[in-house]
Amino acid sequence: MSKLKQSSDPVLPGESVASIEEFEGGKNTYIDNGLIRSAAVGHKVLDFKRRTVRIEQKNPPILPKLGDILVGYVEMLFSSMMSIRVLYINDTKSTSGFSAISSVKIGSSGGGWSRDRGDRRGRTIFRVGDILRGRVVSLLNSTIHITIEEKEFGVIYATCFNCGGDTVPVNKNVKCIECGVVEERKLTSDYGKETFRLIQKTGNA
Ligand SMILES: [Zn+2]
Repeated sequence: MSKLKQSSDPVLPGESVASIEEFEGGKNTYIDNGLIRSAAVGHKVLDFKRRTVRIEQKNPPILPKLGDILVGYVEMLFSSMMSIRVLYINDTKSTSGFSAISSVKIGSSGGGWSRDRGDRRGRTIFRVGDILRGRVVSLLNSTIHITIEEKEFGVIYATCFNCGGDTVPVNKNVKCIECGVVEERKLTSDYGKETFRLIQKTGNA
């Protein structure tokens, strides 16, 4: 029998990895009710020589925390919510492939932006591919929930849905500089291609 045994499947935080009679808890573990449990996502390593168990993290991902500012793009759009693929966490590039959830209903709790402004029809507030900035408000059930209500949150950049052209903010709309199409969005106060470029520049540095 080899002295080290590593699990092939990753264990999750809270998962029991050994009992205290068999092993001593090592790195990334804690003891709870006679059981050694994992404190991290990683591979369980049993050291039979030292009688210890530890959890080795492989490229530990930076998990978003409450209050973190996320930047990502809309990957899926539903009637009341949307899924956002996270690209940056607090201006640092994230390659972990997290998705966050945001409500598409805006305006109920301030931000000075209201969805109900008369009877305009055919409005589109978000589209797949829009680049959004939001703040993490909940991590309930391991789901990252963000809000885009405040004025610095919302769409930071979108290309034209009609022709793929560059857009500029005009009042609370985005206007394509190629074909002139105007669409409503929930824009950030610093909307524009330059803002997104700057995030890419800082985040990838
Ligand atoms: Zn266009």
